[in-house]
Amino acid sequence: QERAARPRVLLVCSPCMGHLIPLVELSRRLVSDHGLAATLLFAAATSPPSSEYLSLVASIGAGGIDLVTLPAPPPDSLPSSASVIVRAAHAVASSVPRVRELARPLAAAAAPGRLAALVVDVVGVAAARGVAAELGVPCYVFFTSPWMTLSLFLRLPELDTARSGGEHRDATEPICLPGYAPIHAHELPRSMLADRSSDSYAAFLSMAKGLRGVDGILVNTFRELEPAVGDHGVEGLEVPVHPIGPLVLTRPVGLDRDHECLRWLDRQPRRSVVYVSFGSGGTLTWQQTAELALGLELSRQRFVWVVKRPHQDTASGSFFGTARGEETSMDFLPEGFIERTTGIGLGIQAWVPQSAILAHTSVGCFVTHCGWNSTLESIMNAVPMVAWPLYAEQHMNASMLEVQVGVATRIKVGPDRFISKEEVASAINRVMEGEGERMVKRASELQDKSVRALSKVGCSTQALDHITGTWKYLAGGNI
Ligand code: UDP
Repeated sequence: QERAARPRVLLVCSPCMGHLIPLVELSRRLVSDHGLAATLLFAAATSPPSSEYLSLVASIGAGGIDLVTLPAPPPDSLPSSASVIVRAAHAVASSVPRVRELARPLAAAAAPGRLAALVVDVVGVAAARGVAAELGVPCYVFFTSPWMTLSLFLRLPELDTARSGGEHRDATEPICLPGYAPIHAHELPRSMLADRSSDSYAAFLSMAKGLRGVDGILVNTFRELEPAVGDHGVEGLEVPVHPIGPLVLTRPVGLDRDHECLRWLDRQPRRSVVYVSFGSGGTLTWQQTAELALGLELSRQRFVWVVKRPHQDTASGSFFGTARGEETSMDFLPEGFIERTTGIGLGIQAWVPQSAILAHTSVGCFVTHCGWNSTLESIMNAVPMVAWPLYAEQHMNASMLEVQVGVATRIKVGPDRFISKEEVASAINRVMEGEGERMVKRASELQDKSVRALSKVGCSTQALDHITGTWKYLAGGNI
């Protein structure tokens, strides 16, 4: 069917690369497998958008999606101390007039080219719900973290009321979610640990409440990975939840072949390289960055390390990316480190094709901050992990990966939340030499199951087929 004649889905993404990547993949699937047209609106936080965003846009190719970058809010519209979550929510809220302008003619169009649904990431839920209600189209959230986090989100309004005077971070009783090990206060998402009177917490709670009013939630997971999916344990709460994952970035074959890091990996033995990356936003302090370098050396393993300039104050210091053309150097690494590790390791200070790296047969271990996309990419390539969580829901993910799923070892944090070089080396060698084989086996089983979930008859594809069928029906198009 001609794309112009297909019902169209409008997807709205907050300025988070970790949300954009699976939303791109979802959009692609809507177009290639489900007979819809898709416009993906990215609410930029900075002007110009981050170099990561531009690299991603350049690498995804058209893929049949219309990708529109919405202008960022004025740089001085928030205090410089505003947190990532507040900045992201502000960017989406500021883009509402433009979203409405683009959506209105589509909603008024004659079937079958009409707007069929609005899909938004959790950050934009409050903004998008209003627009969807005005236009009379269904509003769905695509939740890009695991079910474990979503079930906590769905519980949050009750937990908030029950907390009355205190703070979540002071709770002595862990939170128990069906199907998971109890969650202790220090493992909770960062925004939940903030003062309940803070803007960050308010933004977090407002997202949790917003989720309850949508027509459905698509979640980037699959049942074999999270068997409890859908069981939130809140009586009377009826929000339809649909696992449709794992959706990770798939790029046009061959696009990355010339990347220096893949050429370097081609020359290394099978499963011999440790890949180290803390996602699009993760940063360590100067001291911790230097210690990680020394730990890598001490491990005596080969490595590819996506090196970020240290940040003293926050673990998500590069979240909105570096400005394009910003000069960087590796002057923060221990003296002589680069010379001593030449030929054994590769440090890269740029956006790398991570999914292709994890798919490379030379990679045997991933030291990761446990961002959900990184986690899924690792599992889908049967690569066991060293879990080094930094921010957002990553401590919960790390616990799940070690305890429930069995594909990671958690790095041990010492006094002052510092991780020693000895522990870096030991955790890497637990995976490369010790328990690694068991983890690879478990990850391989999940890899097979993920492939099945995404096959034509798999549960994730079927779930999406069912939902898109409803959208098409409501838009008056063909089913
Ligand atoms: N990524 C990449 N190249 C990089 C850094 C990150 O392709 O140099 C991708 C990575 O493959 C993943 C996403 O960016 O798909 C990061 O998402 P994740 O949820 O792991 O972490 P976040 O960045 O949201 O903290």
